[in-house]
Amino acid sequence: MTTQAYFFGGGQADGNRDMKELLGGKGANLAEMTRGGFPVPPGFTLTTATCEAYFEADSTCPDSVDVAMVEMLGRLEALHGRKLGDADRPLLLSVRSGAAVSMPGMMDTVLNLGLNDQTVVGLERETGNKRYAYDCYRRFIQMFSDVVLEVPHKSFEKLLKAAKDKRGVAQDTDLTAEDLVALVGDYERLVEEVRGEPFPQDTLTQLRLSRDAVYRSFYSDRAIEYRRINKLTGYTGTAVNVQAMVFGNRGNTSGSGVGFTRDPSTGVAEPYGEYLLNAQGEDVVAGIRTPHPISHLKEEMPAVYDELMDIADRLEKHYADMQDFEFTIEDNKLYMLQTRSGKRTGQAAIRIANDMLAEGVIDARQAVLQVHPDQIEQILHKIFVPNQVRNVLGKGLPASPGAAVGVVAFTADEAVAVAEGGTPVILVREETSPDDIAGMHVAMGILTARGGRTSHAAVVARQMGTCCVAGCVDAHVDDSSGVLTIGGVTLKSGDWLSLDGTAGEVIAGRLEFEDPDLEDPQFVAFMKHVDGFRSLGVRTNADQPEDVIRARAFGAEGIGLCRTEHMFFAPDRLPVVQSMILAEKAEDRQAALDKLLPFQRADFDAIFEAMEGLPCTIRLLDPPLHEFLPSVTDLAVEVTAIEATGYKRYAPELWAERSQLLERAKALHEQNPMLGNRGCRLGVSYPGITRMQSRAILEAAVDVAGRGVDVKPEIMIPLIGTAGEFNNQRAIVLETAEKVFAEKGRRVDFLVGTMIEMVRACLVADEVAETAQFFSFGTNDLTQTTFGYSRDDCTKVIGKYLAEGILTEDPFAHLDQRGVGQLVQMAVDRGRQTNAKLKIGICGEHGGDPASIDFCRRAGLNYVSCSPFRVPVARLAAAQSELRAG
Ligand code: PEP
Ligand code: MG
Repeated sequence: MTTQAYFFGGGQADGNRDMKELLGGKGANLAEMTRGGFPVPPGFTLTTATCEAYFEADSTCPDSVDVAMVEMLGRLEALHGRKLGDADRPLLLSVRSGAAVSMPGMMDTVLNLGLNDQTVVGLERETGNKRYAYDCYRRFIQMFSDVVLEVPHKSFEKLLKAAKDKRGVAQDTDLTAEDLVALVGDYERLVEEVRGEPFPQDTLTQLRLSRDAVYRSFYSDRAIEYRRINKLTGYTGTAVNVQAMVFGNRGNTSGSGVGFTRDPSTGVAEPYGEYLLNAQGEDVVAGIRTPHPISHLKEEMPAVYDELMDIADRLEKHYADMQDFEFTIEDNKLYMLQTRSGKRTGQAAIRIANDMLAEGVIDARQAVLQVHPDQIEQILHKIFVPNQVRNVLGKGLPASPGAAVGVVAFTADEAVAVAEGGTPVILVREETSPDDIAGMHVAMGILTARGGRTSHAAVVARQMGTCCVAGCVDAHVDDSSGVLTIGGVTLKSGDWLSLDGTAGEVIAGRLEFEDPDLEDPQFVAFMKHVDGFRSLGVRTNADQPEDVIRARAFGAEGIGLCRTEHMFFAPDRLPVVQSMILAEKAEDRQAALDKLLPFQRADFDAIFEAMEGLPCTIRLLDPPLHEFLPSVTDLAVEVTAIEATGYKRYAPELWAERSQLLERAKALHEQNPMLGNRGCRLGVSYPGITRMQSRAILEAAVDVAGRGVDVKPEIMIPLIGTAGEFNNQRAIVLETAEKVFAEKGRRVDFLVGTMIEMVRACLVADEVAETAQFFSFGTNDLTQTTFGYSRDDCTKVIGKYLAEGILTEDPFAHLDQRGVGQLVQMAVDRGRQTNAKLKIGICGEHGGDPASIDFCRRAGLNYVSCSPFRVPVARLAAAQSELRAG
């Protein structure tokens, strides 16, 4: 076995900051601080591998680990000039957990170890402070018994309270030495009563038992749950840090505190934190006494304050990052007990990166790597004011981030009416469909009971930047009677509700929120540095001119996906689309298409104008036609009602129109529309649609070019699985283009390419690329067809798979690099074999996910495309991917 214990002390350490996997974060940083000359009490770290070995040996510590520990203890005793269990000069120890990844408060700690009925007397003699000695002892018995012997903490708290009541005081510090001696007696009796044996007096046994309890705490329920929630997989144990104690409870020239080198919520460069005099670290966080802000230390102990500020400054420089630290003052002498990278808000992260760069503490490369893409996301959306009480009624998928507060509305029409009255709305639907778009548009937040991350609600909400919780299985929505039941509460139209789209939470009532500042100069300055390191392009998925404009402001370098079906749902267009679908004769269909042409042309005109020469990939119609008709069930109910009330006789035209619609909806009905007549199959069935859409795109392009604005249209054929499908549609586009250019007397350059979203398309990418000028990976459908998981129906199954560990990640949120990734790589390689100039991007929802972006860059894609609000996130993720690749 490799080295099992690493020493630190006397300015030297066996480990260093890069050994987090083996020494845990705390152990690695204690070693690093010791090396850096910071005042750290000496000690040693038992590695994370020893924890694994403990579990492999059926929860017993292997002899070799025990031998290593005792050897290290000897080294510590020699350096410190004290011995564990010595009746005159006892060495007291802290035994603290520390895994490779920070899991604050989830595992166990034992302080003041080494006290027993003899050593406590020695400690009293040595310090001349009986009160302090017995305070340490009662703390040790309490903590050790709770962690190791499983005698609950609250039983001791009861005895402590009784002692305070007896003396008529409120604070622990007001208990006298004699009170504490009596309390220790009470504690010892309690332990003996519960355990049937006395509190262990052998100090080495105390150490062994504490070590093993810390190992076990790695698999405590709360630690397991914390790792599950934070998706921390692959960690197999905690390190154990055994360190000489320093005492903050040694009177009023001692104390303990925690701090950050800068304000973690705003990023302002001033110390932030709190401390208590005459206290051990646990008292600061326990909330029994109110701690003072760190600035107050300047008045109470000016020299210690100056030293602490100097250390904070040096720590930041040493680690090139904002730090979160713990310290203890023992008789006016300062000790550092821990340092680690400080958690911070998005706003603070950006400010700290900018400031540290300006101060010369870090370079631009480090500044860009210091901000997490999620932190960028955080500052672009509304957020809830922190520290509010949240009554969480249920959880769903965090489908589109941000905070939303509004009154519940169950239909799009109701949402529009409420919003027009000036009240914010939460649109609540079983599942949204494209004709809910008007309601989605006005809603501040959207909640659906069904549907996954790539469901209609999720995709559209992200595009609009609207907060959305989707697939909330805890919610029962009865659209027709307007009732939402969730978490035992029944809500009706007009009741207030809050949604957290970042956490996927549905919260009762009206929480307070804050608006983002999208022109924040700190953000703008930071993103400039980001783009300096990025060559992967970032485009946006947008189809409404206002989204396009917003995305450009966020730095989009083109449109990667314009879903043209979203342009078919406006109230003035839907009836025309329906008459196109209902037409039985070719000339009737053409007449309807002719009516749609000017609408589409105007949309493309506005988009080209807004993008001013940036490339615009416009996808031809994708969804099956029945999506544009009311549902068969609704129509059948309507027709039956008309017939039952005799309207068939009195309003024969209405009856005929609704009956015809019903028949057509039945005829178009498919058992499995996702695999039915959609995408290019629709274009092959109805070539008039392809003709009309390519004409609208190219006429708009010629018109905009005629006004002196550069245009770069890219026409994209969806859902192909064979080169034949692509070439069939391409021929229609090319023929239409020639006609348009001849009619207009002007040509524009344009590309014709395809989405790669069917497995077969990946396999035959070389053949497709012979004529396709670009590929764009539709990884929503590619994930759906590779796994065979329905993107709209699989939420529950995926949730179960994640809970059971069958899947480690939702493949619709993070590209499945192992499986789907192979297909992507194959299509890239095969496509470029036959067409070296092939331009390749991604427009599935993964285009905004940092890990997937990293994969896309490595796979050789030219750009990623994502919803407007994710554009800055994608820019940062792309830059970081390049920087990490070196
Ligand atoms: C995709 O399938 O990844 C895609 C972008 O197309 P849509 O989500 O519109 O099916
Ligand atoms: Mg698709």
